[in-house]
Amino acid sequence: MRKKIVAGNWKMNNTFEEADDLLFELAESINDLELENQEIIVCPPAIYLEMSTDVGIENGFSVGSQNCSNQQAGAYTGEISAAMIKSLEVKYCLVGHSERRKYNHETHEELAQKVEQLLSNDVSPIFCCGEALEERQAEKHFEIVKAQINDSLFGFSKEEMLNIVVAYEPVWAIGTGVTASSAQAQEMHAFIRSLLSEKYGQDIADEISILYGGSCNPKNAKELFSQADVDGGLIGGASLKADDFLAIIKSF
Ligand code: PEP
Repeated sequence: MRKKIVAGNWKMNNTFEEADDLLFELAESINDLELENQEIIVCPPAIYLEMSTDVGIENGFSVGSQNCSNQQAGAYTGEISAAMIKSLEVKYCLVGHSERRKYNHETHEELAQKVEQLLSNDVSPIFCCGEALEERQAEKHFEIVKAQINDSLFGFSKEEMLNIVVAYEPVWAIGTGVTASSAQAQEMHAFIRSLLSEKYGQDIADEISILYGGSCNPKNAKELFSQADVDGGLIGGASLKADDFLAIIKSF
């Protein structure tokens, strides 16, 4: 049975003290939850990864990096490698978040290289895909998401694919307060699963968690998570408030 996942992407938010407070607020409450087949992931800025894994390991949540280099090691000032991430017991890493695609011009090929670096270090990529508003309005959303998945993920084997989580995040819904309807989310998630099935077979496709991201909040999470192919959420803004994040976690 595929895993239910709620992952919080803090983006570039929180000072050390704020991060420390939020981690401890989460720790207290997550520790009390009885989670069955559900994983909670916190993705803080890289500078807080070590302290986050220290708290997470003791309190029942996993930690993800927001990014990693597509290179193994060496003269890449400012970058962090998959091996470094692994060495801090970080289990996940976001790849291809739309903000990085936009501001850092990450290409499909570079994203495939990041996925490769992560998989060879036993870190699970959370691969983000999704269309911009103009692309949806032009009814190109399926084509765009298909190309993102095909060009960055379909070079990997079945075994490797089983260690990848997919996050569908329509760009027009990220940080805008506009959420995809549950029908729109389900339609795209089913489409992504059909792509995975065509390439790797239905058994593999059924094992891969596909998360929804884009203005998910305590009010809409239940409806979104009740959809057959929505296996949880990648949460931005609402992951910065412990109460909201916890309410989303409890929405399954
Ligand atoms: C995100 O950044 O991945 C995201 C989904 O943000 P928000 O929840 O704020 O829309």
